[in-house]
Amino acid sequence: MKDYTKDIEQHTPLKRISHFRFYEELNDFLPRKYQKKIFPYEFIGKPSIKDTIEAIGVPHIEVDLILANDKSVGFDFQMHGGERFAVYPVFESLDISPLIHLRPKPLRKTKFVVDVNLGKLAPKLRLLGFDTLYKNNYSDNQIVEISLRDKRIILTRDKGILKYSSVTHGYWVRSKNPKIQLREVIKRLQLENNMHPFTRCSICNGLLQPVEKSKIQNDIPPKIIQQFDNFMQCNTCNKIYWKGSHCDRISEMVRQLKIN
Ligand SMILES: [Zn+2]
Repeated sequence: MKDYTKDIEQHTPLKRISHFRFYEELNDFLPRKYQKKIFPYEFIGKPSIKDTIEAIGVPHIEVDLILANDKSVGFDFQMHGGERFAVYPVFESLDISPLIHLRPKPLRKTKFVVDVNLGKLAPKLRLLGFDTLYKNNYSDNQIVEISLRDKRIILTRDKGILKYSSVTHGYWVRSKNPKIQLREVIKRLQLENNMHPFTRCSICNGLLQPVEKSKIQNDIPPKIIQQFDNFMQCNTCNKIYWKGSHCDRISEMVRQLKIN
């Protein structure tokens, strides 16, 4: 009988090992045993570093810098085994200017498209004046298309959507609590000085414009008409806004976000 052992040995792909260390919030994507430490990663062939990072669980969109044996490399770097990789996130404050940034430049104007799993965050962002598209039936493909078409940052609780190779700007919201989510996004994207409350409709994302009291008095309860003088109207859905106690709460929220 033919001995196949030799054939099998010859055709078994060679296993290679490289070591990884992920920094800061990239650890949120890793199993506990890999967090904040150097760990070995076994592979076969010569995969790209981008595919490997995603296979480990970290969306490429969250990564801004990869060092291979202390030299910066791009996403297309092919692994050979034996490398030590250090992987840094987008918002790492470490000065990495002489090195290769993997992310394109920040988007000039901060606009969002919000995933279906963040329905309570979308109106809050609009209340603070951020141009925010959201529908509760967006598909992943639609969200990616809108993001690319309008240069919008994807906000999501689903890491999977950030792994689409075409996605360039996105952020995985860590918190499940809508109140904390708003704070998280403002802080992590450093938007404290970009808030413009009372400029956008929380329902439809349209822009608010001043409207004369006489034009809307039949659409508002008489008590409100008596009590307030300044009204705003959405240029898209026509909803009417006035500066009631709700506005005091938003002003307080903005104040808190700026100081904390
Ligand atoms: Zn509206």
